[in-house]
Amino acid sequence: LKLGTQSLSEFATRQVQVPTYNRDDVKEGIVHIGVGGFHRAHLAVYIDKLLQNHGETKWGICGVGIRSNDAAMRDVLSSQDYLYTVVERSAKGSFAKVVGSINSFLFAPDNREAVIAKMAHPDTHIVSMTITESGYYYNENTHQLQVEHDDIQHDLAHPDAPISTFGFLYAALVRRREQGLKPFTVLSCDNMQKNGSISRSMLESFARLRDPEMAKWIAENGAFPNCMVDRITPSTSPRDIQSLKEQYGIEDGWPVVTEPFMQWVVEDKFCDGRPPFEKVGVQIVHDVHDVEQFEKHKLRLLNASHSAMAYPGQLAGFKYVHEVMEVPIYRQFVWEMMQEEAKPLLPEIPGVDIDAYCTTLMERFSNPTIMDQIPRVALGASGKIPQFIMPSVAEAIWSNAPLRRLCFVTGAWFLYINGVDDKGNKFEVDDPMKEELQALAKEGGNDPSKLLSIKMLFGDNLRNDKRFVGEVAKAMELISKDGVMATIPKYVNQN
Ligand code: NAD
Repeated sequence: LKLGTQSLSEFATRQVQVPTYNRDDVKEGIVHIGVGGFHRAHLAVYIDKLLQNHGETKWGICGVGIRSNDAAMRDVLSSQDYLYTVVERSAKGSFAKVVGSINSFLFAPDNREAVIAKMAHPDTHIVSMTITESGYYYNENTHQLQVEHDDIQHDLAHPDAPISTFGFLYAALVRRREQGLKPFTVLSCDNMQKNGSISRSMLESFARLRDPEMAKWIAENGAFPNCMVDRITPSTSPRDIQSLKEQYGIEDGWPVVTEPFMQWVVEDKFCDGRPPFEKVGVQIVHDVHDVEQFEKHKLRLLNASHSAMAYPGQLAGFKYVHEVMEVPIYRQFVWEMMQEEAKPLLPEIPGVDIDAYCTTLMERFSNPTIMDQIPRVALGASGKIPQFIMPSVAEAIWSNAPLRRLCFVTGAWFLYINGVDDKGNKFEVDDPMKEELQALAKEGGNDPSKLLSIKMLFGDNLRNDKRFVGEVAKAMELISKDGVMATIPKYVNQN
């Protein structure tokens, strides 16, 4: 049976949780840019709970896609009344739930004005986003907006027909100011340290280049909460679509499969109201410092471990994260990288047992039922490695702490960039900086210095550190000669 408003009651009898609130009564208080798997498994699920159990009808979601490939999501969602299924899977079994918190979807390439008008609407109080790390046009070295980027240049020249997130946010905020409205809160849900502060700084920089008065208005009145987001959400596979139909009889063109675990720690800094998130298990914190500590733990333990499985894992020919976890020596490598290289640099958080957190991560990575794809975890590395691996490397350099495993991961990424695995098979490299990276990787061979010369990603300090460069070069040489699996034993403790 095809998913849609008409078929909802039918699914309720098949052990599927469905929304029972009246979706017609829901206002869209949130506009979300980047309706991918993660948003639909995370923020949209929290909002669905607020609608279902707490009658918070001000906070429905209008999805927005600003990239041409978002047309597929628009088509699927609109054909099923913007309903979709979230399937939670673990060794204990699976649980399916239809989510109703997304009420509509705007596809920007078709109608940019409609997106600006929606964000400027008085009912809109929050514009949230999951636009991937590269969507921020953030220069890791200077911490500035990449003003020279074609998209930014385009938006500065065409403020009424933007193509970047910041172009849309700016255009809508101009209109709100003209109408005497407050700015909306900009809520980044991407995996970046200080995601809110970076959003603020990128938007204010963009605004300064258009109109310094606007930049001042945003600085004085806007809000950009930082947050830590967590729920491992693989890309949906054709098999997921098929098994949903077989197990629950639901025909859903784009369900989301995820793990039962979910976490969100949000700084309580909203300028135009917010949903009572704490009612549905979100940790609201008042001190930005606290959010930063949670973010740090998550990015440097969970995400860094993902990188440790992604790049060497792809070279070694693994397809799924849980397969990596099934190999004892690789498992040991991931554990030791967390314990011996990431953990010692992390601050203590009162009430958080960091070893228990690491143990839970190992269990989550090992979940064989969600089939988390290595290529998904690997994609967009130029936005990820500087956030997940390099901060630990930099601190390890300063404090003369161990960093061999972090260097192994960095070296494996550099080899991965060539798109050929240890057996000589080609694979797809998905990265917005692919061309530049591949040219430098080719030029450098097993010498990392060419790639490390990309200032925007690595700055100057790392490139000039002999120990770091030497370790990365050594890892690259070993992997090139013997392959990842023969090299990994050299990077774990001998018992
Ligand atoms: P996805 O591929 O399912 O969706 C990505 C969405 O981002 C799409 O709508 C796409 O159009 C949009 N997008 C990509 N580049 C953009 C750009 N430059 N400007 C504007 N929009 C852009 O991916 P996903 O799994 O939903 O993950 C998205 C982000 O969510 C990640 O990059 C990460 O920061 C965060 N996140 C994901 C997970 C996860 O497990 N999937 C967990 C925590 C956080």
